[in-house]
Amino acid sequence: DAARAAVAAHTRHVAGFPEPGVVFADLTPVFADGAALAAVIDGLAAAGRGPDGAATVDLVAGLDARGFLLGSGVALRLGVGTLAVRKAGKLPPPVLREEYQLEYGSAALEIPAEGIALEGRRILIVDDVLATGGTVSAAVALLRRAGAIVERVSVVLELEALGGRARLQELPAGGIAVSA
Ligand code: 5GP
Repeated sequence: DAARAAVAAHTRHVAGFPEPGVVFADLTPVFADGAALAAVIDGLAAAGRGPDGAATVDLVAGLDARGFLLGSGVALRLGVGTLAVRKAGKLPPPVLREEYQLEYGSAALEIPAEGIALEGRRILIVDDVLATGGTVSAAVALLRRAGAIVERVSVVLELEALGGRARLQELPAGGIAVSA
């Protein structure tokens, strides 16, 4: 479909980044092309609609940082708001924080602990790439701690070899939507 074709046409595959042995899928040229960006946003937004086309979520959570680019567009398409799930240290206190393991060391995601009503709200998580699933898994845990209901995760690309889907078994069947 349109998102798949846009990603195939514009993605740059960079061997050896960020470390030897990794082939990085750079989606920067996809986002810089107007038609490709629209196709990708439409593909992501489809995960937040029911059979009648109406939004089935109340809020789109975009993951730092490329998820921000996409999440805002998806939210506009769905007619809901967006929440930036940020890397540690960017938000003023108080925050809710979730640490997660990287291959070497750890990282953390944060959301505001005040000012946004998350209790019982239905969330669509958006990011560019699902790799090991560590980032999305931490975001799911964080949003659930805030009382939100994570309905689905919508990503542009899934790097299947890295096993992210297996790590996200806490999501219902069909909970992960991949556009390309
Ligand atoms: P994970 O936590 O699933 O291993 O990694 C996902 C995060 O790392 C995402 O936020 C994504 O932006 C980034 N990431 C990992 N591999 C790639 C890649 O090949 N291409 C891009 N664009 N991002 C990647």
